[in-house]
Amino acid sequence: MKKILITGGAGFLGSHLCKALYREGHSIVCLDNFLTGSLSNLDGLEKKENFEFIEHDLTQPFFGEFDEIYNLACPASPIHYQNDPVLTVKTNVLGSIHMLGLAKKCQAKILQASTSEIYGDPLVHPQVEGYFGNVNTAGPRACYDEGKRCAETLFFDYHRQHQLKIKVLRIFNTYGPHMHVNDGRVVSNFIIAALKGEDIIIHGSGSQSRSFIYVSDMVDAMIKLMATPDHFIGPINVGNPVETSIKELAEFIIKLTNSSSKILYTEGREDDPVRRLPDITLAKKELGWKPTVELEAGLISTIEYFKQIL
Ligand code: NAD
Ligand code: UDP
Repeated sequence: MKKILITGGAGFLGSHLCKALYREGHSIVCLDNFLTGSLSNLDGLEKKENFEFIEHDLTQPFFGEFDEIYNLACPASPIHYQNDPVLTVKTNVLGSIHMLGLAKKCQAKILQASTSEIYGDPLVHPQVEGYFGNVNTAGPRACYDEGKRCAETLFFDYHRQHQLKIKVLRIFNTYGPHMHVNDGRVVSNFIIAALKGEDIIIHGSGSQSRSFIYVSDMVDAMIKLMATPDHFIGPINVGNPVETSIKELAEFIIKLTNSSSKILYTEGREDDPVRRLPDITLAKKELGWKPTVELEAGLISTIEYFKQIL
């Protein structure tokens, strides 16, 4: 049994990760400040033996003894991370420094939930790990993109300077049950609008693309990455190598929900990446991993979840 710290554990991805690692028989400490997460995501896990929930803001130091740390604390939806951009940078930079310091002190392995956003609006397609990215440092997405880029730098520097055992995971758009109703990201927004029969709002032409990966596949990859030999540190892309335009996604969700919703086009978002698609050659090789849940199956299960909670 390992003692594992999960920051941001009451959020969308973190709550699924808490459940998966708890099921494997580990002792879990889940840390969160409820900025975008909630205790209800944990479905009662917080009352179980060998599971501890601690309300804590990662911009402040945190101490304990752990074998492994998964660092997920940070709002992931553009609407939420742009709401308080300075806090977003602080969470990424100070939060990473605090977690890396903790990992150094207790010799823990530490995994960073990095992002495809470090590629910005990519000029290389599909995105390979060796691509350095195209980020506007002055734009509204920079608090997140540059915050995550600085976090990666800190991870690699702690590895080089202090021989820390690190794993840097670049997560591409992940969706599934337990996304917050007000999360604001595209999959939950479209499903909720479709179920309510309201207009589905597309920012821009809808020709911009993303690749969508179901949450169970992502959690599987996170756990597999943590278990890789110490010499493998990443960065490593994890996502679905199937490109979907936002218009296609809207039409697909309307079809799956049998909705009367209409698509409404509005102004595009500033610095919105035009195309995004992961090259997952490295993940296949190093993790023996590939996605198993097709978009249709994943959307159906997410639609069922939102039907129940709306
Ligand atoms: P989320 O917003 O649902 O979860 C983030 C969690 O972190 C929330 O529970 C929130 O309350 C907590 N948090 C935020 N700031 C904090 C702070 N200062 N101290 C303590 N807790 C704090 O988002 P998510 O989709 O679950 O994303 C989890 C991680 O994965 C994030 O780091 C995100 O950047 C990364 N990521 C997610 C995606 C995705 O598509 N879901 C893609 C790329 C990267
Ligand atoms: N988007 C949209 N309508 C919405 C939410 C998002 O058209 O209600 C678009 C957004 O402009 C972007 C894509 O969907 O092009 C993905 O946005 P999201 O906020 O999910 O995450 P991102 O990948 O941009 O961080």
